[in-house]
Amino acid sequence: MDYRNWIRDIPDFPREGILFRDITPLLGHGQAYKHAIDQLAEQVQLWAADVIIGPEARGYVVGAPLAYTLGLGFVPVRKKGKLPADTTAVTYDLEYGQDVLEMHTDAIQPGQRVVVADDLLATGGTMAATVELARKLGGVVVGAAFFIELLPLHGREKLSGIPIHTLVQYE
Ligand code: 5GP
Repeated sequence: MDYRNWIRDIPDFPREGILFRDITPLLGHGQAYKHAIDQLAEQVQLWAADVIIGPEARGYVVGAPLAYTLGLGFVPVRKKGKLPADTTAVTYDLEYGQDVLEMHTDAIQPGQRVVVADDLLATGGTMAATVELARKLGGVVVGAAFFIELLPLHGREKLSGIPIHTLVQYE
């Protein structure tokens, strides 16, 4: 299945000069969405994970159905101040400024095998911060799964040593 048929290019979003890959047509197409999740799940199963972690917000539409399909738990990563219980935080650099991601401190047990999931790998900054959070809590990151990879941004280099699986790659 060529998922590109359901990924829409939006020029100049969220800023001028950026070509945004919009996955909402794929999410809105039941067969394509299910196919994409099932295909990622085949790979994630080989990593023998205990838990799936996804950053808000589009990491949830990939990570949660993956977890459900494989009968695993799902752990949400959120922006600062959104999670109700005791949290662990990581600060990471954006193009302009910094941002903070948080996870519940008791969400992962030391030694658990963790797979991180998101819709798209661009510079890798979001996922590198998510991996750092998981490791801070003692998780062993055994793989990273994405619908889309933007090859020119070399996000893989920020996730060195972690097996990565993506369904669609753009030059
Ligand atoms: P990175 O941190 O790898 O530079 O950017 C990836 C993060 O930003 C992901 O959480 C992803 O949802 C979001 N993102 C960046 N660019 C795009 C894009 O073109 N399309 C979509 N759907 N998400 C993007």
